[in-house]
Amino acid sequence: MRKRSFNLHKIIEKRVLTDSTFVLRMERNGLDFVAGQHIQVGPPNGIHTREYSIYSGPADDYIEILVREVEDGLVTPALKKLDVEDGVVINDAVATSP
Ligand SMILES: Cc1cc2nc3c(=O)[nH]c(=O)nc-3n(C[C@H](O)[C@H](O)[C@H](O)COP(=O)(O)OP(=O)(O)OC[C@H]3O[C@@H](n4cnc5c(N)ncnc54)[C@H](O)[C@@H]3O)c2cc1C
Repeated sequence: MRKRSFNLHKIIEKRVLTDSTFVLRMERNGLDFVAGQHIQVGPPNGIHTREYSIYSGPADDYIEILVREVEDGLVTPALKKLDVEDGVVINDAVATSP
């Protein structure tokens, strides 16, 4: 299996659902996953990341997450400020339970 660590993925679409929820669609860049796995995502400085369930399907050529903003959070307000053409760091997809 190809070794993969945190990589920069460009945001290609942002859908604002409510004041506090939004969907980010990123370039997939070869990231492999199966249904039910999650990834760690963070703003491009890469200092802080959090787990997000993968909202898109394994057959899609992009990767999506649905984020609910935690107002005093470290990562979600930073993700909310990002837009199309910005980058996020994403790591390998992993299962929630072994
Ligand atoms: C396996 C897994 C999958 C996840 N999938 C998703 C997902 O698909 N979408 C998504 O939006 N989040 C998801 N989460 C939660 C996500 O990883 C972060 O915890 C969340 O986005 C908050 O990050 P933050 O850095 O903004 O807040 P933090 O800086 O981590 O937290 C700031 C403060 O808010 C509190 N807090 C943290 N999270 C929440 C919360 N959800 N509601 C209320 N208070 C909170 C903390 O206790 C703390 O006091 C998932 C978590 C796990 C473990």
